Amino acid sequence: MNQTIDTTLMVIIILLLVLILILVVIAGLIFVNYLKSNKQQDSKKEVAEEENPVTKPGIGVCKNHEHKNSVGICAICEEEYCVDCLKQIDKVNLCPEHFNTFADNIWHPITNQRTTPDDPQDGVYIYKFKQHLWKEKGIPSYILNEYKIQVENDYIETYVQLHVKENDQETLKKEIAKFKGSLTNDK
Ligand SMILES: [Zn+2]
Ligand SMILES: [Zn+2]
Repeated sequence: MNQTIDTTLMVIIILLLVLILILVVIAGLIFVNYLKSNKQQDSKKEVAEEENPVTKPGIGVCKNHEHKNSVGICAICEEEYCVDCLKQIDKVNLCPEHFNTFADNIWHPITNQRTTPDDPQDGVYIYKFKQHLWKEKGIPSYILNEYKIQVENDYIETYVQLHVKENDQETLKKEIAKFKGSLTNDK
């Protein structure tokens, strides 16, 4: 008789322990979920703040269509555009507006700057000059890179070519030389 009471007590105690364990696990899960949802709300806030294409460029939305993903940037204005807006001619990606600029003009390269994996910085002044031209003067230009494989030393050389309109050619050649000089003097 005593033994059966003992067994029943044991079973009840074990059941209670199991129940407590389950409750602890559930409480733990609820707590973890609560923490997770808090974090998600925070990151959602961050994303929402970044989703303003006007104030923050470079997040992958077309400049003309705010609900379409961008597939690339225009070689002239460097804004992002979707697959419907961006057109490619002669390996150059262009937005609708600058497609016309490109087609209406004759272009000439004014640089042929060689860069190598050892000196990748050698062409940086060209990119800076291009941005300076566009942002401060509204002068359109685009950069093409030509790649050549150096078989002997087994590396790839890049030739950075800045193309400008035929009429701008002479003045910009002089300007970019000055611009390069001013950059190296700053160092
Ligand atoms: Zn453009
Ligand atoms: Zn678009």
